[in-house]
Amino acid sequence: MRLTCIVRCFFIWLAVVGTVRANNAAGPQTPAKISSAPEPPGITLDWIHVDGPYIALTFDDGPSAKLTPKLLDLLAAHHIKVTFFLIGENVAEHPEIVAREAREGHEVANHSWSHPNFGKMSDESVRSQVRRTDDAIRNAAGVTPTLLRPPYGSVTARQKKWINQEFGYKIALWDVDPLDWKRPGPNVVCNRIVRNTRAGSIVLVHDIHPGSIEAMPCVLNQLEAKGFKFVTVSELLAMETPVPPKPSASPKAAGVRPSPTLASPNN
Ligand SMILES: [Zn+2]
Repeated sequence: MRLTCIVRCFFIWLAVVGTVRANNAAGPQTPAKISSAPEPPGITLDWIHVDGPYIALTFDDGPSAKLTPKLLDLLAAHHIKVTFFLIGENVAEHPEIVAREAREGHEVANHSWSHPNFGKMSDESVRSQVRRTDDAIRNAAGVTPTLLRPPYGSVTARQKKWINQEFGYKIALWDVDPLDWKRPGPNVVCNRIVRNTRAGSIVLVHDIHPGSIEAMPCVLNQLEAKGFKFVTVSELLAMETPVPPKPSASPKAAGVRPSPTLASPNN
């Protein structure tokens, strides 16, 4: 009698475990980061849904005494506004370039003091990196930044939350990365950006690599020819419209990010 119960219980247990496993297996598309990201919505930006052909070019790690003024000349000739994610150390060294960026209508934003990996640091060290750069930008340009891009995009959900609460910053990542820091040459940088940029894109480039600056005439000409209009990240964010609900949950469509309609700036 007792033995029968043990055997039966064992099979019931097997059935329960099997069901739980099957249910878990039913959701393979669920990104792992959702479960570990208890951040309030709207703190992190990568791509922004907008009604129109608007995009944001962003330039990281500067200013560079040699390259950033060249870039500013080119942007002025095209009447294009971009966003600069600045390294505090470089801001302190070249405040006049940061002042020029702001004066010419570009957005100046925080990219840490010395480019460390926030995800591996204590809160106190992160706070100091953010605070010092915030102060340096305000001193140089007379404006208070509202965006932070953590170096390498590395930041924990918990850090994002307190940085947002303490500094009012949004965390600005990107959706187009030409990997220009690997110095693949200006043509490759240009092609990667032009191929992957769609309405609402935030494009990551670095204004400390000569090849990236050399790629810019090609990038600007080709994106302009495709009908894109250039705004700062904060302007892009201000244009955000709700993403319409997906018509059907076809498993085949899930995970395919750029839809052809969104990719065309003419829609
Ligand atoms: Zn960087």
